[in-house]
Amino acid sequence: AIPLVNAKSTSIGAKNGLLIRNRNVISVSSKINYLLMDKTGTLTEGKFQVRKCDSLNESVSPIEALKLIASIEQDSTHPIAKSILQYAHEKQIELLPLSESKNISGKGVSGVLSGKEYLLVNEKAAREIITNFPTIDVADYTTSYLIQDKTLIGYVAVGDQVKSSASSLIKQIKQLNITPVMLTGDNKKVADSIAKKLGITEVYSELMPEDKQKIVAKLQSEGNKVMMVGDGINDAPSLAKADIGVAIGAGTDVAVDSADVVLVNSEPTDIISFLKLAQNTQKKTV
Ligand code: ADP
Ligand code: MG
Repeated sequence: AIPLVNAKSTSIGAKNGLLIRNRNVISVSSKINYLLMDKTGTLTEGKFQVRKCDSLNESVSPIEALKLIASIEQDSTHPIAKSILQYAHEKQIELLPLSESKNISGKGVSGVLSGKEYLLVNEKAAREIITNFPTIDVADYTTSYLIQDKTLIGYVAVGDQVKSSASSLIKQIKQLNITPVMLTGDNKKVADSIAKKLGITEVYSELMPEDKQKIVAKLQSEGNKVMMVGDGINDAPSLAKADIGVAIGAGTDVAVDSADVVLVNSEPTDIISFLKLAQNTQKKTV
């Protein structure tokens, strides 16, 4: 049977934008001392916009570079892909037929266009393929590089916006003596820039999906109680591993299914409402 106080708190939670899927986590909430947060879609809107797109090869025009980049993204559901396809659509670019498209976990995508195999990957992965990697001014944007036969063809730089309430979440988390940590598959420059804006000093970037789970496990092995919040497929293993896994409501079904708590309105500060609600519930039970 569900203790009455817990049952009541669950319905109060529903009114506050919280869906508590696993009531057992209420008892650990007062012991949480780390809040791990995914960047894209959790602290940021996860709605990218193309800021720059250009050719890096004499034989390809800037518009052809965009055409190839957008064509390679046709089958991807990644928020970066969506922004590139939207941009190409606005520029009335006709896409090339894409075959053998693959998702390269934590790095990008690959596929065949006009009989040639292309890769569109982040800078870290691109540097492993291209020697004499050029210096390109992409500010603190998330940048992906188009490669064909170990040759750089072009690049696309996209930007995202920090959620308006994200810095308020960080301030309140620190007041509760909980250490905020940011985790992301994105590059170090973007990660550090957003962390600085939000007042987060512990940042892990360029992570592979399995790395996020390893970080949760390491903190737990040192005796910490970890709450993790995320929205993506790549966050699901770490949400399951955390003492309390929290999913963003607008996130993927896989993340929601792995979480103990869902932020129905995708509002990061509802984490504070959850912690307060859980603590009040605890006081009433004892
Ligand atoms: P995160 O959601 O934390 O940014 P991902 O694992 O989804 O992490 O992606 C890591 C990085 O790989 C992205 O920041 C991006 O640079 C690159 N990437 C992943 N998928 C794509 C894609 N479809 N198109 C372009 N770049 C991608
Ligand atoms: Mg994400």
